[in-house]
Amino acid sequence: MVSDDFEEIKIGLEIHQQLNTNKLFCSCSSEMNEKNLIYEVRRRLRPVVSELGEFDRAAIFEFFRNREFVYRGYENECCLVDLDEEPPHEINRDALKIALEMAYNLGLYIPDELHIMRKLVLDGSAITSFQRTVLIGIGSSDFEKVKIKSLCLEEDAAKLEKEEKNLVYYSLSRLGIPLIEISTDPIISNPEESKEIAKRIGVEQGTVAVMLRRMEKNGLIKRIQDELDKRITRVYLTEKSENLLKNLSTVLREAEELLLSSLSDKEKQELKELLKKIQEDLKQRVGEYCPKEA
Ligand SMILES: [Zn+2]
Repeated sequence: MVSDDFEEIKIGLEIHQQLNTNKLFCSCSSEMNEKNLIYEVRRRLRPVVSELGEFDRAAIFEFFRNREFVYRGYENECCLVDLDEEPPHEINRDALKIALEMAYNLGLYIPDELHIMRKLVLDGSAITSFQRTVLIGIGSSDFEKVKIKSLCLEEDAAKLEKEEKNLVYYSLSRLGIPLIEISTDPIISNPEESKEIAKRIGVEQGTVAVMLRRMEKNGLIKRIQDELDKRITRVYLTEKSENLLKNLSTVLREAEELLLSSLSDKEKQELKELLKKIQEDLKQRVGEYCPKEA
């Protein structure tokens, strides 16, 4: 019985959030536009002995599957690092900063030294057969009643495009994009709870970080470090965004006038009341996730 099973099962979540900061170990774009295909490279997986003098069993198994991987590289979105023909560059500072900020905000313990480690990946989605990952924070506190186990900064895998017989096509544009991985302790006991928790800790945090970065790139905000507490960075609107806001409100007002020009004053009032009714109903349904009124 499903309901009984849920009493036994405990769910832990792994939440991934891509960062649009350029790639983690080279300066290729992380936009994933995939506009101009510039090359295709074919590779096979060949098992080699590890530093301990042993073959990895999974690698041997994959080798006998006799598959060939076709890596497709798009303009501005791949380079020799992505092809494993050049050593990785220094880690992307912006991605590292975002990961550290998130770990700090989640109240995690941040080790004194950060090490780049390797995780074996043998399905061809990592051209090197491993994924680089950095443990940024270890769980120690509860965030929004969720126990966070760890936060890692790692590389995203290549994107599977298609499979034809023994040929597997991957796009390199996603390979190496910084990925924040947040893992929770397995304490969640039903699907609803897991959904709610994912929403609280994963998506919103990461989205805000990426959004701010984009706005900064476009000159809409500036970040200034707090003079008294260096851990705090304050975000300010720039002159450009202030002007944009002024223009935006004028444009919105004009658009509104244009849209409502065919309605009489009475009809406008009716529309306002109907919209308000819908809003009230929505608020009831989505509860706490409804944006607070100013
Ligand atoms: Zn690259």
